[in-house]
Amino acid sequence: MENLKEVLGTYYKAHAAEIEEIVLHIHDHPELSGEEELAARVQADFLESRGFEVKRNFKGLKTAFSASAGEGRPHICFMSEYDALPGMGHGCGHNLIAGVALGGGVLLKQLISDQGLKGRVTVMGTPAEEKRGCKIDLIAAGALEDVDIVLMAHPSHRATSQSVEESGIMQFVVRFSGKSAHAAAAPEEGLNALDAVRLLFCGVDAWRQQLPETCRVHGVITNGGVAPNIIPDTAAADFYLRAFDMDFLLSMKTRFENIAKGAALMTDTKVRVETVKHTYKPGKPNMELNRAFMELAQEYDMAPEWLERSRASSDFGDVTYEAPAIHGFFNITGQKREITIHSKKFADCAASPFALDQMEKTAKILSQIGYRYLTREDFRKKVAEAFPFGSI
Ligand SMILES: [Zn+2]
Repeated sequence: MENLKEVLGTYYKAHAAEIEEIVLHIHDHPELSGEEELAARVQADFLESRGFEVKRNFKGLKTAFSASAGEGRPHICFMSEYDALPGMGHGCGHNLIAGVALGGGVLLKQLISDQGLKGRVTVMGTPAEEKRGCKIDLIAAGALEDVDIVLMAHPSHRATSQSVEESGIMQFVVRFSGKSAHAAAAPEEGLNALDAVRLLFCGVDAWRQQLPETCRVHGVITNGGVAPNIIPDTAAADFYLRAFDMDFLLSMKTRFENIAKGAALMTDTKVRVETVKHTYKPGKPNMELNRAFMELAQEYDMAPEWLERSRASSDFGDVTYEAPAIHGFFNITGQKREITIHSKKFADCAASPFALDQMEKTAKILSQIGYRYLTREDFRKKVAEAFPFGSI
């Protein structure tokens, strides 16, 4: 066949205007986690118009969707995200993740049909990455059971890079309850819940010194009482624990709960430690897929760099245990290194011509990785060998 890059260039032209329109429309109408009705609808409509079989409200999630074409295996899944951040619109640039998934999906579908390949392509819309982590709900509902590989890419203020390892995260709300009393007239009648929160922080600080450098524990006080002359009968704090190893993260949970119990014991208060949201597993991207991503990013002149692992966390971490998966990064800020992700300036960049150009290249790269997986047994074998979490 003629040069694959040229073929993809021709294919993409037929979709470019509409994909860019969708990406900019999502950008200009930011929707928070779980409320992404417009973003889900415009993507599903587009894929339907391109001949995909679309399931809306996928697995019972109002703003999830799944769009498939082709038949049988291998089954390549492109993941889309499209939620925005409170107060800053698309400060994480998820509108561009959607563009990559749409582009990658339509390109691979066309390669499958034009070349009569065996295999299936799915674009899966995964809501609420910033808040709830709906990929975990989708996995629990069996959404990835017959998927062979998962491909996604996220915009970045750093260099275009491989899918880096990410921390797992557990989130807690700790509530202490004691007894209120006048702080001057009858302090001996009170049980001070704020003291328990202070001791929780002291205990965590002492523990921190014994933790490996790669772990993180960070908290804020969300309720510290109402007035200095009232002994606080309730007090609360939110805490995040992070680690690169799931077993270690679970051991941190036990230690953290014990510190909270100790703080309650010292103050004669009662404590409740609740896990909130889903636990995100540490992300373990597939190195063979990563190598392909980096090699192609080089070919597309995106100046890729292999970066260190990240202490941030994402619900994509759980995906990496279900199937060989990557979540590559593509730079959208150019030389403007002072602009960081989760900022209003980054949101501005997420609608720039440069970002749309990088998005297009990344969509082509992901479709090429999908194509390589469909057509080359040696590549499939290497990807399987680099996947430590069971057979595929
Ligand atoms: Zn993000």
